[in-house]
Amino acid sequence: MLGPVILAASRSDRMRRLISAAPVTKQVVDRFIPGETVDDIVPIIEERTAQGLELTMDVVGEDITTPDEARAARDAYLALVDRLAELELGERVEMSVKLSMFGQALGDGGHELALANVRPVVEAAAAIGTTVTLDAEDHTTLDSMFAIHDELRKDFPQTGCVIQAYLFRTEADARRLAANGSRVRLVKGAYKEPAEVAYQQKHEIDKAYVRVLRTLMEGEGYPMIGSHDPRLISIAQELARRAGRKPDEYEFQMLYGIRGDEHLRLAAEGHRMRVYTAYGTDWYGYFMRRLAEKPANLRFFVRSMISKG
Ligand SMILES: Cc1cc2nc3c(=O)[nH]c(=O)nc-3n(C[C@H](O)[C@H](O)[C@H](O)COP(=O)(O)OP(=O)(O)OC[C@H]3O[C@@H](n4cnc5c(N)ncnc54)[C@H](O)[C@@H]3O)c2cc1C
Repeated sequence: MLGPVILAASRSDRMRRLISAAPVTKQVVDRFIPGETVDDIVPIIEERTAQGLELTMDVVGEDITTPDEARAARDAYLALVDRLAELELGERVEMSVKLSMFGQALGDGGHELALANVRPVVEAAAAIGTTVTLDAEDHTTLDSMFAIHDELRKDFPQTGCVIQAYLFRTEADARRLAANGSRVRLVKGAYKEPAEVAYQQKHEIDKAYVRVLRTLMEGEGYPMIGSHDPRLISIAQELARRAGRKPDEYEFQMLYGIRGDEHLRLAAEGHRMRVYTAYGTDWYGYFMRRLAEKPANLRFFVRSMISKG
């Protein structure tokens, strides 16, 4: 079970220094995080939207340690919104944010700071016809995330959030969100969670994913299927059909760099397909989660290090 080991390593400063400095890291990182600045990322946004895809943009950098860094994160998103406005692509490109990056994890007052920082981003997004989705981080952060989501939805009902099938709590969260008409991205879950709060076995997580997806499809909200799993994608299509949903009443989402042909296939079939695209310089946490999801990624990374070393 390499995944949990990699996720544990992702919290180590020593590993961060080692991996960030490795000579081949950059070229492997580029597969998942294709740029550091807005300028790097604009050609990708233009290319993908021209291919009929939609995007959700993530400025990476969850490991902030000061309120100033949290405000800088807010400003990075505001700069992205300005750029989307210039490109007139607001309706095709939304944003995903991690509240930790907006200050949520900074101790007392972190919740309020994150809300204060994310609100202007949500307002700016709405002004150009798009929206923001709050990513789900580890389980200790979720009550705060859902409270911020409820608060933002009072003025901006399109604000989305993410739920993770591996958590026991998610079936109840899904019922609440499906009843109140939320936009909800369902994912399996990417963090290292203890057995007291989360399923540990792949088959249990997959079964939970289907149960939760059924609730979302039968509910009042807008389901966003965040998965690359071919079996879950065909189950989602069948559940959408049974629930009588039209193609614009749900969407598929996948990560940049993973199953790119499938992005295009689903879009060509007439589905809404959104590519989660991360960029920025503080890519370590995001990159390590991608390594943990597929041990072959780690083997490739290690082989590249050995052959260059
Ligand atoms: C749009 C989107 C947003 C997400 N947001 C969040 C979030 O907010 N919070 C959170 O906890 N998690 C998030 N995740 C990650 C998610 O929880 C899973 O860890 C990830 O999607 C892998 O699960 P899977 O459903 O693709 O199924 P898996 O069974 O893991 O993968 C199915 C197949 O997809 C391919 N694949 C999957 N991952 C990789 C990879 N890293 N590299 C190469 N191939 C791969 C492989 O072919 C694999 O066999 C998000 C995922 C997506 C797609």
